[in-house]
This record gives sequence, structure tokens and C-alpha cells, in this order.
Amino acid sequence: MKKILLSAAALVMLFSCQNDTTETAPETSAVAKRGCASQEVLAAQMKADPTLALRMSKIESFTEKAMLSGRLVNGNVEIPVVVNVLYRTAAENISLAQIQSQIDVLNEDFNATNSDFSATPALFSGVAANVGITFVLQNVVRKSTRTTSFSTNDAMKSASKGIAPTTPTTVLNMWSCNLGGGILGYAQFPGGSAATDGVVMDNNAFGRTGTVSGVYNLGRTATHEVGHWMNLRHIWGDANCGSDLVSDTPTHDTANYSVPAYPHYSTCTGTPVEMTMNYMDYTDDRGMYMFTNGQKSRMAAIFVSGGARAGFGI
Ligand SMILES: [Zn+2]
Repeated sequence: MKKILLSAAALVMLFSCQNDTTETAPETSAVAKRGCASQEVLAAQMKADPTLALRMSKIESFTEKAMLSGRLVNGNVEIPVVVNVLYRTAAENISLAQIQSQIDVLNEDFNATNSDFSATPALFSGVAANVGITFVLQNVVRKSTRTTSFSTNDAMKSASKGIAPTTPTTVLNMWSCNLGGGILGYAQFPGGSAATDGVVMDNNAFGRTGTVSGVYNLGRTATHEVGHWMNLRHIWGDANCGSDLVSDTPTHDTANYSVPAYPHYSTCTGTPVEMTMNYMDYTDDRGMYMFTNGQKSRMAAIFVSGGARAGFGI
């Protein structure tokens, strides 16, 4: 079990150090390894706006207090979702069925009704969580674009080059577009600018039907990105044997890819079995199928009164 008592100062340092973090991003359009750019985007935002680190460290202190007080929501948060579709080709203009399939995946994964939840190893069954958050598709906004491939510079979220978010304090905005650079998706953490709030997915990793392809065909890219949007970190803490600020996840060496054979042992202190099936690792979609109670508490803390996403709360 990891210690998660971090002072505000230590957190600012932690975030600063994450500027050094890199993730594999192959230069081809076919994504060979899972690439999520959330941490890189966060590092860039922190460089551009020094007050972001302070806002995020305040969110961390609030999260710790909310978790200690037990004053958390349980199954009462319903998230309205607006899906913004940017398309250059007919295929990129993904169908409503494909969009709804993504909403369905989120509802299953965040309520432990996903069919593979039962594959959770006995070692982790005691901490496997029903997060109890539901998602409702409120609207789909479509816009054609001449952009062949978007990057992580948030252009898809601008009114001029993309689609501006709908009321981000009360709506989860998701963008589907053609993302380049081997990136499957990225999210903005709580504390960032409202103008760029939400999650972005490559249209080939959006939902579980239509244009989805390869090993990212079960909608788990969005489950992972929405986890970030709700303040979850990568399970390896974006560092060798790093901390994800959650007490019931094992310490991982680094990201895991493909679908590792169980048990996969960490070489970090205590050599624990790694929780490679956690949504916040980097495995193929079929390899990830659980959140933990500790992750649930972190997510719940942002929705209570005073929390970073209290606009969605009870
Ligand atoms: Zn990620």
C-alpha cells in the first residue's frame, strides 16, 4: 500500500517533474501502442499557466479531505454528455449508433456491469469498484473540417477550427476526430480552463462499432480518458514506480501494453502483482476491465459540494 500523504508543495514539484514524462507515440497513423497524451497536455498547460499547478494542488488537498471525511457521493452522479464530431471524410462522420455505443461502454465500465468485470483476479476482487456514475447522451454536434489530422493543441475545441464545448461546467464534452501522432486520445484534468475542458478520442477508438479498429475497439480509450477527466492518474504514476495518488492500487514499474499474462510482478518495493487490468494502465481494450475503490473515492471527491466538478454533483 502506498502512502498518499503529499503536501501541496510536494504536489507542485510532482507536477513540475512530469514535464519530463514521455509516452510512446509512433509516427504512423495506425496506433501500434496505446498512446494517451493527457499528461503531456497537462505539462504544456502548466508551462503556459503557472497558476494551474496551484489550482490542482488545491484540488488534491480538497480530495484528501473529502476522502477522509467520507463525505462522498455514491451512485448519484449523472453526467450529461455532448459529443462533438469533426469529420473530413464520410467515415469520420461517425454514426449515432457508434456514439451511443460509447455511452453504453461508459455506463457499463463505471457501473461494473461490463461483461469482463468478472475476470477480475481474486487478488483484486476486494478492491474492484462499482463507481456508480452514469452518462446520458444529451446532444451531438457535427461539423465538417478540412483538417486531415488534429494534434493535442486543442484546435478541435475552438469555434474557428473545431467545435467549442457546450457548457463545460455541467456537461462532459467529448470530441471525435482524426487524431494524428499515434495518439488515441487525451483528457483535461480538473482545474484546467473551461474553454478546453473535456476528452478527445480518435474516431477509430470511439465506441465499439462503426469505424473502430484493431485492439482499441471496445470503447476503453474513453473509459481511460474520462478517468483522467475525473482526476485519475496513470496507474504507474507517470514515473518509474511512481504514485497514482491512490492507496489500493499496486505500484507499477511503468505502463503495460498488449495483454500481459497474469500474474505480472512489479519490480518496485515489495514486488507486488501489477493490476494490469485497471483502466488507467495502457493495455489493449480487452485487457482492461476494472477501477478500484480508491480510484472511485478520488473521482467522487470532485463532484461533492466545493469540488472541482461540483456543477455535476448532487
Ligand atoms: Zn492516459
